[in-house]
This record gives sequence, C-alpha cells and structure tokens, in this order.
Amino acid sequence: MDEDAGRAGSGAPGDPRFAIIGAGMAGILSAVKLQEAGLTDFTVYEKADRVGGTWRANTYPGLSCDVPSHLYSYSFAPRADWSHRYAPGGEIHGYFEGVAREHAIDRHIRFGDEVTSCRFADGVWHLETAAGHRDEVDVVIAATGVLHHPKVPEIEGLDDFEGTMFHSSRWNHEVRLDGKRVGIVGTGSTAVQMVSALVGRVGQLSLFQRTAQWVLQAENPPYTDDERAAFRQNTARLGELRAQLTQLFDVFANAIVDAESPEMQMVAEACRANLEDNVRDPELRERLRPDYQAACKRLIMSPDFYEAIQQPNAELVTEAIERIEAAGIRTRDGRLHEFDVLVLATGFKADAFMRPMGVIGRDGQALEQVWAARPNAYLSISIPDFPNFFMLNGPNGPVGNFSLIEVAELQFAYIMQLVDRLRAGECREISASQEAMEQHEAARVEAVENTVWVTGCRSWYLDDRGIPAVWPWSFDRFRAEMQAPKPAAFEYR
Ligand SMILES: Cc1cc2nc3c(=O)[nH]c(=O)nc-3n(C[C@H](O)[C@H](O)[C@H](O)COP(=O)(O)OP(=O)(O)OC[C@H]3O[C@@H](n4cnc5c(N)ncnc54)[C@H](O)[C@@H]3O)c2cc1C
Repeated sequence: MDEDAGRAGSGAPGDPRFAIIGAGMAGILSAVKLQEAGLTDFTVYEKADRVGGTWRANTYPGLSCDVPSHLYSYSFAPRADWSHRYAPGGEIHGYFEGVAREHAIDRHIRFGDEVTSCRFADGVWHLETAAGHRDEVDVVIAATGVLHHPKVPEIEGLDDFEGTMFHSSRWNHEVRLDGKRVGIVGTGSTAVQMVSALVGRVGQLSLFQRTAQWVLQAENPPYTDDERAAFRQNTARLGELRAQLTQLFDVFANAIVDAESPEMQMVAEACRANLEDNVRDPELRERLRPDYQAACKRLIMSPDFYEAIQQPNAELVTEAIERIEAAGIRTRDGRLHEFDVLVLATGFKADAFMRPMGVIGRDGQALEQVWAARPNAYLSISIPDFPNFFMLNGPNGPVGNFSLIEVAELQFAYIMQLVDRLRAGECREISASQEAMEQHEAARVEAVENTVWVTGCRSWYLDDRGIPAVWPWSFDRFRAEMQAPKPAAFEYR
C-alpha cells in the first residue's frame, strides 16, 4: 500500500472494513445503516464534489420526482416539509444533503475520488482511485447508480451545431433561455418536465418526438402551511400518509407485471382520457397518441404537458431527424429547424452500472468479461465469484413508477444479513452460486413474458435480446424475497 492508502481490510470477522462506492441516495443509505449497526470502519468514495447522485447531477428546469415525495424519502428520515406532492429536484437534493449531514456521513466521504478498479486478492478487495489513492477492504457496496451515464444519440452532424448544446443531466445554467429558440430531443419524463417548465419562458420551443408517450395526468399541488405544520406536530400523520401512498403505488407496481390486469386497464383508460380530453386539435392528438399499451415504457406523470405543448410558441415535431447542422436540426422532410439552444433529453446508458470501473473477482475474472453479453447478478445484488461485493440497484431489479429508495432499503437489509454471516465468523467469503443465478435468470426471463413491458414498444428497459432487464414479479414478491437470503443460493468459503 502507498502512503496515501486507506486502512487495510481487517480480516477480522467481527469488524469488517467497507468501501461504499457512490454517495447518491443508495450510498448515503448504506453509510447511515452501517453506522446504525455500529460498523464505522468504512469509506465512501464519490467522484463528484457533493452528495446526492442523480439529484446533484440533474438540475434541469422542471425536474421533480414522479413518485410522491412522502414515498420518495427514506423510511428512517420522513420529512414533514415537502413543498409539493412531487417535490422539485433541488428540494430532493437538499433532502439527501440534510440526511447526510444529520448522520455526519461527510467525514467518511472522499469527494472527487473516482474508484477506477476493485480487485479481489488474498481475501480482500484492493481499490484504486483516479487520484491514486489505494484502499483494502473486506466488503464493497457498489452504490454507483443506474441512470448515471448520459446517453448521447448517434445523430449525424452532432458536433456541427453552432448554438449551445448539452445533455439534460449536464444543464448549462450560464445560458439564458428567455426569448430563445430551444429544441428538445427526446420524449421521456425529463423532456416532458422541461417542456412544461420552459414553454412560458422561451421564444420558441420544439419537441422532437421519435416515440409518443402515454401521459398520466398527475396534479402536483403544493402542501399548505397548515398541512406541513400538521405533519410536523403529529408525525403519526406522516406515517399514515406514507402507508396510504405505499398501498396505492403497490397496486400499480403489482399490476404492471400483468398486462391484462384490471388495474392496468384502468391506467390505460386514464391515459387515454387525458389525451382525448386535453388535446383539442385532432391532428396533434393523433401525433401524440402512442401505438402501444400504456406503461409499456415508463409511464409519464405530468399535470400539464398537453397544455404546454399546445401553447402557440410550442411545436411537436414528429418528422424524423435527418441530421444536425450549424443552425439547427434538419428533418427528413428537408425542413431546417433553427435553434439557439439544443437540449438532448435522450436518457442514460442504463446497462453501465458500476462500469467503466474495472472489477476483478476471484481467480482474476474480469467483470467486463462476465458481463460481456449483458449485466446480470443474483437478485440484482451478488455476482458469482465476486465475493463480498454487493450492489444496490443492480441489474434486472425492480423498475417502474415507484420509489427506488424502498428498493435500495430492502436490498441493503438483505445484504446486511449476508454481512452478519461474515461477522459471525461463519465464513470469510460470500457470493451467489452460479446455479442460483442461472435458475433465477431462467425464471425471470420466463416471467417477463406476462408483463406489460413486452407488449410492443421500444424502451430502455429492454436488453440486447429485447427482454426487459427488470424484476418481472410483483413488488410484494420482491419484498418477500428480500426478507432473508436463501442459504442454499450462496457459496461460502
Ligand atoms: C431525471 C431523473 C429523475 C428520476 N426520478 C425518480 C423518481 O421520481 N423516483 C425514483 O424512484 N427514482 C427516480 N430516478 C432514479 C434515481 O436515479 C434513483 O431514485 C436514485 O436517485 C438512485 O440513487 P443511487 O444512489 O442508486 O444512484 P445515483 O444517484 O446515480 O448515485 C450514484 C453515485 O455514485 C457515484 N459514482 C458512480 N461511479 C463511481 C465511481 N466509480 N467512483 C466514485 N463515485 C462513483 C456518482 O457520481 C453518483 O454520485 C430518477 C432519475 C433521473 C435521472
């Protein structure tokens, strides 16, 4: 180890040393929970200069949660003061910073230090960072995020644009938008939120739509001072609200895996009614009408997208993009759409996970090779022969319109049960068995056949085979599975 080295993995079963990679929602959660368990020998590595992950990186106008904030909060840190049902991004970032501060996590974090490699040798993980720091730990928690690496579309002439262009997750706040001509490429939640927020400010707004989206009208009222005071004074009310929201979202999460379920039909009907009732021009309505089942792609929640796209200074462009030129976007019909600012709301490389970090498991196996076809892990958490290396929000986990915080909390509690075995001295190395992972994957691939995600749309959920890379069963089943690791599914050494 060099002089800038972390403390060596103790090897002592009762007091393992941990590295948490990432200080977003899942990394903060991990740090809080380790401390709570009396495990204080850990370092959090964060390549950025602040905590918050997604909510630090994304600062675009209109960003908000699309899960009610009283649900999108840690179970151990309810917040009475959410300003709106779906809080704005900055407020959510402030919440994560507040939780980190309250639990004094910062003193464990190395900011601006990207972990570039993790290598398992001699029973411990050897970490190296871009800044040249080295560490040896017994357990790695990879909390590196999913929607993290921006996806830039392959459009001819992308570099020719002479105005200002940026990805939605790298918002350029130096650029004044008032009165400007702004083009937005993409029609996911981000684009929809931006259209609503920007249309009243900019001179001209054009939304380039490749695929129409179903939009569920979700009002976003502010909480009144009285309501917030009531939550503060009576925390039981907060708990009740959370329980009600959980129940409501469970219905949706459980229904989504059955494309034919009555609840799914209700969601579809609500989306259809939103389109029919709120888009006046029949021609525009048809261009906004998706040709696939609602919720096949991540369902978009918006109080006012249809209103915004019908403003006189807004245009929905459905003609395919031919190329980008110095002045703007040329569509296939030969028209040049001129802009001052172009925003790529084109999503993320959702299959990168902790990569490009190099991870070398037992016997020199490189994760890059193990994942050459596509990423996989037993229950999204553990990879065979990558002992004591656990992921939060890893491959093929639950996605949908519910809180990823609950997912991460359940996963972390599961991981801690595995860690307890290490601490009890039952073994020194734990990873999922190859057999357990293969059986789980076979069952998963079979189960996705019934889900709404395979009903005929292109979405970021689909892997290279067109199979949704998600948890295909009900959320109740996920909760049940996370209750306790099945001993036979793991290999112990
Ligand atoms: C625009 C947007 C809106 C969203 N809205 C919702 C929503 O409404 N509800 C919902 O449930 N989810 C939503 N999500 C998903 C959101 O990403 C998760 O809810 C959650 O924030 C993920 O937290 P995380 O800690 O797992 O990952 P992230 O927030 O991505 O954090 C990962 C952290 O790891 C760091 N990191 C990565 N690799 C390394 C490395 N090698 N070394 C050091 N540091 C590293 C990153 O810098 C980052 O800070 C949204 C995502 C986006 C992009």
